[in-house]
Amino acid sequence: VLLIAHVGAGRKYETSSRIDVLKDALKEGFKVLQKKDALASVITTVKIFEECGLFNAGTGSVLTISGTVEMDACIMTSEGKCGAVSCVTGIKYPIELARLVMEKTDHVILCSAGAMEFARSCGLKYFPSVQPERVKKFHELLSKNDLKYYKKVKDFLDDPYGTVGACAIDRNGLIVAGTSTGGIWGKLPGRVSDSAIPGAGTYCNSYGGISCTGHGEGVLKHCIAYFAGELLEKMDAQKVATHCVEKFCDVSFGLIIVDKNGNPGYAYNTEMMLGGYINEKDLLVFE
Ligand code: ASP
Repeated sequence: VLLIAHVGAGRKYETSSRIDVLKDALKEGFKVLQKKDALASVITTVKIFEECGLFNAGTGSVLTISGTVEMDACIMTSEGKCGAVSCVTGIKYPIELARLVMEKTDHVILCSAGAMEFARSCGLKYFPSVQPERVKKFHELLSKNDLKYYKKVKDFLDDPYGTVGACAIDRNGLIVAGTSTGGIWGKLPGRVSDSAIPGAGTYCNSYGGISCTGHGEGVLKHCIAYFAGELLEKMDAQKVATHCVEKFCDVSFGLIIVDKNGNPGYAYNTEMMLGGYINEKDLLVFE
């Protein structure tokens, strides 16, 4: 029984206030993991991150070049169930919408207007995704001409906010992985991130669950989460995580893993990745 979470990889930043939220989310998610199951635990954990406004997901989502918010999320289980949304706005918890896609539709990914229509039909209320603090930051970046991520992937993240993700295994051996993001500052509207794509930024099979964070285009092209999932058949979570960041060293990213034996794994080749894990014995934060 283990829950591991990350709140994004990128440049080094002041973490103290975010560590408190991270620890609270891990503790809350773990309670749910013990009482219910890995799916409820991952959803609970990611929703706390989406709600708090300190991370690049849900309420804290960054803006597109047009000043809009377009969020992506994906959830996948070791039973082969999967749901994802891309380019959604006006909802509070994209991970919850991804779960609804998984549970209530015959599809895997819904995007844009269709995904939002589906959200309303499920009773999810409108929530203003474009937050004033993010608009202020957007204008600062624009005035510094600092929206340059697509030219220089190595330093794409100079904003101390992160994509969020969580992976858990429960006492029945169910494994679940989930990721939620606002994407990358100044992205073009319509851009789809790795986080939303099963096998790219989020993946789960019977050997383990994986959530990636970092330069989405790079993670997408290499299908890094799928690659990690295959390796988990023969290697433990930590070995796989380390191997992936070494193998894909041309992509700035990090990943967290839980394997079928309840081991945590994490690695990153960015300056830092804030995250942590919790089981019956420990609560450990890494950065
Ligand atoms: N992978 C996310 C994206 O490309 C960003 C991140 O992880 O920070 O949208």
